[in-house]
Amino acid sequence: MERYEELISRRRQEICERMADALARAGRGADDALLIAVSKTVGTDEVIAAIRAGYRTFGENRPQELVRKLADLSERDGLPPVRFDMIGNLQTNKINAVLGRAQLIHSIRSQHLAEAVSSRAARRIEAGELEAPVDVLLEVNVSGEESKSGFAPDELRACMGQLVELMGIRIRGLMTMAPRGDKDAARRTFSGLRDLRDELQVAHGIVLPELSCGMSEDFEIALEEGSTIVRLGRVVFDPSFALQ
Ligand SMILES: *Cc1c(COP(=O)(O)O)cnc(C)c1O
Repeated sequence: MERYEELISRRRQEICERMADALARAGRGADDALLIAVSKTVGTDEVIAAIRAGYRTFGENRPQELVRKLADLSERDGLPPVRFDMIGNLQTNKINAVLGRAQLIHSIRSQHLAEAVSSRAARRIEAGELEAPVDVLLEVNVSGEESKSGFAPDELRACMGQLVELMGIRIRGLMTMAPRGDKDAARRTFSGLRDLRDELQVAHGIVLPELSCGMSEDFEIALEEGSTIVRLGRVVFDPSFALQ
């Protein structure tokens, strides 16, 4: 693990430099985006190595895994507090497991899920088990690929008015995933997400500060297009994955 820790620590430096450069190209500051280390493919020991390397925010795409890693970490002494976000498919029967544990849910993919999260959170707030509405992002299928989940842009335009009324959630912004292996399509996807955010802010008189987009292969493009949260898995945890 010591060698691994050294490798991912060096890798973290490279990622942070790449992020700062991409942000600078867009006239943004180095602190204008958050890096989430997506730990879905690694175990708790690798997460601890990443914490020692300087990471403080992690993303998991399965609720059970998020719960398990948080429990594992709580049993280790001497670790700084870390944050876990839920970034993947959330079934309604798993909502209660992540409430109060995940700091931000990136993957609200439908009106039904938004309502289910809101009603459960509201119940927990009423019972004094949760302090505040849960922070969420709305996942949008900007590229329109069949394989991708999330709100279609028009669908979101149509139901946004109802979503902002939900009392148990606080909508902090939008999330998307770009098509793989096509830089131009990725850029269009990220700028499309930003444009949709701008439009919804004006239409509903709200602020949506967060844009969660950019993964290992396209995070620099995402940062140039306004991303405030990049979700990086392989580039963080797999030292053999080449930074492009
Ligand atoms: C796995 C995953 C990532 C990270 O992907 P990499 O290409 O490994 O950086 C980001 N977001 C979501 C939703 C994921 O499932």
